[in-house]
Amino acid sequence: MSRFLRQRLNRRQALHVLGISAAGAALQSRAFAQGPAFPKGAIIRTILKDYAPAELAGGATLFHEHMQLGPDFNARFTAATAAARAANGLPPIPTRGGAGRAGAPPGPDIMHNADLMAAEVTKAARDGNIACIVDAGHAEMGRDIHFLRRVAMKSGVPIVAGAGFYSQPFYPKEISTMSEDQIFRALLKQVDDDVAGVFGEIGSWDEITADERKVFRAVGRTHVATNLPIFTHTGIPGKSALEQLDIFEDAGVKPDRVVIGHLGNLVDPNVSVHKQICRRGAFVGFDRQGGFNDAPQVPMVMALIEAGFADHLMFSADASSGYAKTVTVFLPKLKAAGATDDVLHHIMVDNPRRFLAFVPKRPRKKVKG
Ligand SMILES: [Zn+2]
Repeated sequence: MSRFLRQRLNRRQALHVLGISAAGAALQSRAFAQGPAFPKGAIIRTILKDYAPAELAGGATLFHEHMQLGPDFNARFTAATAAARAANGLPPIPTRGGAGRAGAPPGPDIMHNADLMAAEVTKAARDGNIACIVDAGHAEMGRDIHFLRRVAMKSGVPIVAGAGFYSQPFYPKEISTMSEDQIFRALLKQVDDDVAGVFGEIGSWDEITADERKVFRAVGRTHVATNLPIFTHTGIPGKSALEQLDIFEDAGVKPDRVVIGHLGNLVDPNVSVHKQICRRGAFVGFDRQGGFNDAPQVPMVMALIEAGFADHLMFSADASSGYAKTVTVFLPKLKAAGATDDVLHHIMVDNPRRFLAFVPKRPRKKVKG
């Protein structure tokens, strides 16, 4: 049992797990006893330094969080979501736990105060034994790379910076007139200048638009040129999830370098799209966890574990504060449902490192200050 899970596991939950799923536990232990293998020369590129994957084995990695978003982000997100849901005949969402949470968070704006955000990140790392956090923003979402760098320096917590263009409602307006080639070059520049360690979040909002398709192709090509892994945003639950993977594969991306995101929102007891994505070799993101949204996801995650797809699961909270909640709130619910410590350790500690580790094709740019 890992240290971070042991701290989180109370006696009742431990007895529950031991009593209910001893056979499953034995199987899961055997499967994951060896730990992941990484390609020779693979690193995890954080904003301040490159790590050997083994250096981040001491805790969980959260693959999709937000440490800074623009002051207008939530309003734009809410408006775009409402419009897309109405167009799909879906009822409005009251609120959700992620970056698009309606209304301003109460209290000080920690997303624009590096001291407060560093304190928040430090607290999360301690409460959840978190080894590394990925910031899923980029410039057009209001994420300033210098802010992220200051938070990493002040907190001492390894932070991976995302790169890319988010989705149609958020694109800079020149995207529609840029060629795929120009977007490819703009992405390469972002990767170099921001010392990005991943592409994400890269999204489609509803039906994939022509611009989104162009961006996805350009991201796929930039992956081939850099080896940076990719994680996505799906807007309307599950819509275009498989098509996102199709576009990347057509651009030469291997599925095991991709997380198709926000698939916890696709509530389906048969987890059929989820399984298709796993079978193709990609990761499935349950990445808005740790809150009121968890109940429908627990049986879906358990079904995927029982079907042998634990290697393909990625958990995070898509949060703008309280980053530990994937570990402190969501994992106990999975434990209560019978998930073993071994499998949860594998998902939280090994899977994100397998996803994030890449053999660089371009040198890391030296950044002053
Ligand atoms: Zn997000």
